[in-house]
Amino acid sequence: MRLFIAVDLPEPWKDALDQAARRLAAGSRQGTFTRRENFHLTLAFLGELPGPEAAVRALEQVRVPGFSLTTAPPGRFPGGRGTLWWVGLEPAPGLLAAREALVRALDGQGLWMDPKPFLPHLTLGRQVRLREDFDAAAWEAALPRLTCRVDRLTLMRSQRIQGRLTYGPLYRRRLGKP
Ligand code: ATP
Ligand code: MG
Repeated sequence: MRLFIAVDLPEPWKDALDQAARRLAAGSRQGTFTRRENFHLTLAFLGELPGPEAAVRALEQVRVPGFSLTTAPPGRFPGGRGTLWWVGLEPAPGLLAAREALVRALDGQGLWMDPKPFLPHLTLGRQVRLREDFDAAAWEAALPRLTCRVDRLTLMRSQRIQGRLTYGPLYRRRLGKP
């Protein structure tokens, strides 16, 4: 099964991200845009594993306080078939400490293989091609700055169910008091 560890986002974040993604879609001639219920922050992508057990053990070993999460300006990863658009997150010490603790715990279970630097982001759309008349400055100006507390990490399973990308929680780990 395809697994990753994520931060669930509160409903007001999903509303704001959904609006941003819809406005981006309206200004695009191509793209796959994140569905409202699928917004999340990936802390660690694990890929295909035979089961959730080792990932659950790793999460049980994560002992860090809860932390606050704040959005940062949007950005893009260009690609051959279009551009991935995202909203950034501030690389605040609490977030980075939680990610570090998680990577150490995953490594302890032999689950850590991703050498890429951590660029925390919330994906709005992939393979996006904008229309000529898209006003990126106005789009960016309308993005609200969001803040929330994070008090748990979630082991998620990623599946295509009848062609539809679906993420389902398998296990939740509560974080400590700050
Ligand atoms: P799809 O790949 O079907 O278009 P998706 O990328 O959202 O959709 P997954 O590939 O299962 O679904 O990824 C789950 C989460 O892990 C997403 O947040 C995705 O951005 C992230 N992710 C996927 N692959 C990697 C990778 N190689 N490195 C880092 N993060 C990844
Ligand atoms: Mg993917």
